[in-house]
Amino acid sequence: MPKTKDLQAIIGHCKEYGFIFPSSEIYDGLSAVYDYGQYGAQLKKNIRDYWWLSMTQLHENIVGIDAAIFMHPTTWKASGHVDNFSDPMIDNRDSKKRYRVDHLIENHVATLPEDEGNALLTRMDALLAEDDFVGLKNLIDEYHIKCSVSGTANWTDVRQFNLMFRTEFGAVAAEDGADNGVFLRPETAQGIFVNFLNVQKTGRMKIPFGIAQTGKAFRNEIVARQFIFRMREFEQMEMQFFLRPGTQKEWYEKWKAARLAWHLSLGIPAAQYRYHDHAKLAHYADAACDIEYNFPIGFKEVEGIHSRTDFDLRQHQEYSGKKMQYFDNDIDPQTGKPYGNYIPYVVETSIGLDRAFLMVISEAYEEEDLSTEEKKDERVVLKLPAFLAPLKLGIMPLTKKDGLPELARELMHDCMKQFMCFYEEKDSIGKRYRRMDAIGTPFCVTIDHQTKEDQTVTIRYRDSMTQERVPLAAVKDLVAKACAMPFS
Ligand code: ATP
Repeated sequence: MPKTKDLQAIIGHCKEYGFIFPSSEIYDGLSAVYDYGQYGAQLKKNIRDYWWLSMTQLHENIVGIDAAIFMHPTTWKASGHVDNFSDPMIDNRDSKKRYRVDHLIENHVATLPEDEGNALLTRMDALLAEDDFVGLKNLIDEYHIKCSVSGTANWTDVRQFNLMFRTEFGAVAAEDGADNGVFLRPETAQGIFVNFLNVQKTGRMKIPFGIAQTGKAFRNEIVARQFIFRMREFEQMEMQFFLRPGTQKEWYEKWKAARLAWHLSLGIPAAQYRYHDHAKLAHYADAACDIEYNFPIGFKEVEGIHSRTDFDLRQHQEYSGKKMQYFDNDIDPQTGKPYGNYIPYVVETSIGLDRAFLMVISEAYEEEDLSTEEKKDERVVLKLPAFLAPLKLGIMPLTKKDGLPELARELMHDCMKQFMCFYEEKDSIGKRYRRMDAIGTPFCVTIDHQTKEDQTVTIRYRDSMTQERVPLAAVKDLVAKACAMPFS
């Protein structure tokens, strides 16, 4: 079992090296909102690009779109988010702290012996499935569950709390008293469903086909204390795969396997993942599972794969009055006639980009003890896959004189058209290497006096820290090749 990593150390590292900052930090930050810094933004973009390439370019029958964050408010009535996108919450009267009921109980379970904890979880799941709020409150009372801040069990009743952010559209309140409320989308999927007909017709798409998109989503999460694992503003990468009713089981299994294969193509060992099949299904789903990764906070969902039947398209058909149908002229072997008109079924794959980022950086983060008998030494290194690393090549003249910076800059200008480079001439070479290790740069080259004589440079490899002499002219291709995206 790989050893557990310390989330606090990773958070500290992300801040110190320009990956992630608390949002508006000079005003003390905003809870569960984060900004990506210079290296974080690049790493995030590389993960997004790899997903996009794997999900669109590598599939003849999947196309990408970019729908707006604002959508017609009826979208969210049709999708069920206005009525159902809520979590049962409870407030502690003394600390005024609000908890998600399931999280409060789950935290208590962690303090109980395994049997007792499992029994409590089973009872909680049954009550949640029934929306039995009185029963949930009684359960909290029965186990004397206390607030971690006030230490008391002085609880309010359990209430529903909608997770969507609402705002007003237009400059002034509507004069006719109409409701101008719009929501910030809580998921990107609905932008795909409402464009189903547009894309199918204009792209002449034939079922089965997929529509992918990446973009921001917003949820007013209540318990949001796990760094970028649970944010109020986050990014999703979703793909809805439209298929013929009756084939959903087969496609669900295919996508389940394909998405895990994608995760493994990041170089993360299989032991770090597990599937969590949902026993309790949402009313519209006929199968659902999560891909869980072993985060520093334990195995948790990074991606969901859901077989959503025709629920979403059917709802949009009903609320919009527009036919969300597809005419399938393939021949049904049973009847010898075309399959004809139907509302397609959907299998969706939905991954959080920020969670994927946390997964990648947690996996890559290593504190290495390099001490020898003579001297204590250690380094922090991000062993990122080269194709995801924010910078690919560090370029370092050994000294600031003798024409070495000029040679180094020449290499830099040649390479920067193909990949991200970083030029540095300050401090000792050893210190410069360590800084590149800390942000995960897989290659560094040093230009020295010998370079002027024989046009060779020293290339240094991040993970093994070994060095070798290679021709200056070979550097660009060597790095470009090693940093190319794998094809999963
Ligand atoms: P959870 O149970 O952790 O709240 P969920 O089941 O509500 O997640 P989905 O609605 O299936 O999540 O969303 C798909 C993906 O979006 C999740 O697998 C996750 O990676 C990501 N995601 C969801 N909520 C958040 C959030 N608040 N912050 C960051 N990523 C999120």
